[in-house]
Amino acid sequence: MPESPLPVAAGAATRWTNWAGNQTATGAVTRATETDEVVAAVRAARAAGRRLKVTGSGHSFTAIAQPDGDRLELAVPGGGIRVDRDQRLVTVPAALTLRELNGLLAAHGLALPNLGDIDAQTVAGALATGTHGTGAAYGCLSTFVEALTLVTGTGETLHCSATGQPEVFHAARVGLGALGVVVEVTLRCVDAFFLRAHERPAALADVLAGLPELVGGNDHAEFYWFPYTDRVQVKTNNRVPADDRPLPRLRGWLDDEFLSNTVFAGACRLGRRIPGLVPTISAVSARALTARTYTGRSDRVFCTPRRVRFVEMEYGLPRAALPEALAALRRIVDDLPLRVLFPVEVRFTAADDIWLSHGHGRESAYLAVHQYVGTPYEPYFRAFERAAADLGGRPHWGKLNYRDAASLRPAYPRFDDFLAVRDRLDPDRVFGNAYLERVLGP
Ligand SMILES: Cc1cc2nc3c(=O)[nH]c(=O)nc-3n(C[C@H](O)[C@H](O)[C@H](O)COP(=O)(O)OP(=O)(O)OC[C@H]3O[C@@H](n4cnc5c(N)ncnc54)[C@H](O)[C@@H]3O)c2cc1C
Repeated sequence: MPESPLPVAAGAATRWTNWAGNQTATGAVTRATETDEVVAAVRAARAAGRRLKVTGSGHSFTAIAQPDGDRLELAVPGGGIRVDRDQRLVTVPAALTLRELNGLLAAHGLALPNLGDIDAQTVAGALATGTHGTGAAYGCLSTFVEALTLVTGTGETLHCSATGQPEVFHAARVGLGALGVVVEVTLRCVDAFFLRAHERPAALADVLAGLPELVGGNDHAEFYWFPYTDRVQVKTNNRVPADDRPLPRLRGWLDDEFLSNTVFAGACRLGRRIPGLVPTISAVSARALTARTYTGRSDRVFCTPRRVRFVEMEYGLPRAALPEALAALRRIVDDLPLRVLFPVEVRFTAADDIWLSHGHGRESAYLAVHQYVGTPYEPYFRAFERAAADLGGRPHWGKLNYRDAASLRPAYPRFDDFLAVRDRLDPDRVFGNAYLERVLGP
């Protein structure tokens, strides 16, 4: 690793925007492939008193990735992947997307134990915000991390694990991009597996009455509540030995591409134009959903394409608070001056020990609220946030929230420990931006 900064070309100013289109920035971009290029870029920014924000694939709804100065984009270096098949440990460049990672793991007969709804995020981006899927026995994706290598705000390259630099490890697995540029990640994987997906419509009251069985009796369970109705769509994924019921290509296209994206996009546009129709559209959507069962490779069952653009807020709650939170949300939706077309997603995770993970120290239920792009959302999200915060909720770092450091500190027992690591690793706030100032403090 060279000690002195290498010359790294900072390109002309370019415009950056996130997936939802609600965060933008214009600034110089530096592209780095090798760790020494990252070191050089960080040292150069620090020496010039400038900020440098590394962006992933821009799938956060918050301004967490919004550059407040220069932007750093990581490329995947050739040959940067190491697979220990016996230990099921895989070391990858942090800029790899989850989709690329899943393909790579499948080629080695491996898989991540759990995934969220999509696979477009970079590995580092997904970890930085505590990205999660659903499953009572599974924490967020960061719980699969065995070791991390990052370039700190002073340009040092640091390797951390549970035994080496453990306090950095506890902080950096969900690091909010505030501690350093993660360049490499070692993930503990599992043998490749198949899932049997089962989807069925149900009544909300029945699902809540049988919640422990639903969550405890399935590897992965979630449900979607349709606003203005008593109806939900329940989804369970369970491990099976064989892929013996694959979804016919036409049915898969019809359900996942046509109904979930094309028809849904049409319904959203109609609801945006004529808000009075939204409760009817929601009720028709809830009734139109049917049951289906299919099997497939784990990542292909966990992740589906999302082409309808939306904005989202998601709160992790103590699991026991879910019925109260849902009841509050129903009252909020009914009283809003605007209409809510997107179903509310409910998921579950295990407790973990990562300092700023939403699941830190408790079994969680997640409630996610969405609005179609271009429709008003702030009164909805703010009212939901008040209810969720009162119940001890923690906002997803990558999804819209209005919290500040003073209100978040009591929600995270290790908040100050995280800040101490931040002070040590990025004393000059090279990685700072307005979002981090709000949620972590200056
Ligand atoms: C359609 C859609 C579906 C989603 N589904 C889910 C879901 O199922 N579950 C869930 O929990 N979330 C979900 N999310 C949220 C998403 O997983 C997170 O916002 C995630 O952080 C996005 O990753 P990214 O690569 O786009 O990172 P970005 O949004 O670009 O960046 C996020 C943070 O990571 C930091 N970062 C990026 N690269 C590095 C690096 N190399 N080193 C250090 N920091 C870095 C950035 O600085 C920033 O702080 C979804 C988002 C969308 C748009």
